[in-house]
Amino acid sequence: MNFLEERILKDGIVKEGNVLKVDSFLNHQMDVNLLDEIGKEFHRRFADLNITKVLTIEASGIAIAYAVARCFNVPMVFAKKTQSINIDGDMYTTEVESFTHKNRNQVIVSKRFLSSEDKLLIVDDFLANGCALQGLLSIAELSGASVEGIGIAIEKGFQYGGRSIRNLGYRLESLAIVESMDAATQTIVFREQ
Ligand code: 5GP
Repeated sequence: MNFLEERILKDGIVKEGNVLKVDSFLNHQMDVNLLDEIGKEFHRRFADLNITKVLTIEASGIAIAYAVARCFNVPMVFAKKTQSINIDGDMYTTEVESFTHKNRNQVIVSKRFLSSEDKLLIVDDFLANGCALQGLLSIAELSGASVEGIGIAIEKGFQYGGRSIRNLGYRLESLAIVESMDAATQTIVFREQ
């Protein structure tokens, strides 16, 4: 079991509706040492790639993406969520459905910050049905940047996002893949990797 799996077992809380709460260490209160470890681990796993930028989506991807970008010593860009429909032509835009909030957001990245020269590592805190990731992939595609790798802290393996993104041929690595979890017993089972 790796450091993140151990921490999830210690402090993660399984909620009804297939939601794993990790807000005491990852996406509300943040354990900065754990974030550093996550950054180092993704750097180790993707060290063979010539990454020029790390891309994520606000809000909860930002801290992880910072830690990863710090290790690669490259800029980090986060896609912003906005309700506005008056987006000017200087933005790459797409729509993303939120798993946690059950709404749709316009997601934007300024054209100044991504280009066809970029080799991206996309990172996020969770992968569930893959909507957030699909949004980031379409932003990357609009910019012409290549997606070299995808790093996810926690993948919920019983939802279809991971399978569909891997089927598209992307190099997707998740530090912890939850195979099953149960709110009544607070049991969490990880996939052997
Ligand atoms: P997806 O778009 O893959 O369906 O869901 C990914 C996004 O939803 C992530 O960016 C994450 O913020 C949020 N999310 C999905 N599942 C969970 C969960 O079980 N717990 C938490 N805390 N966030 C989740």
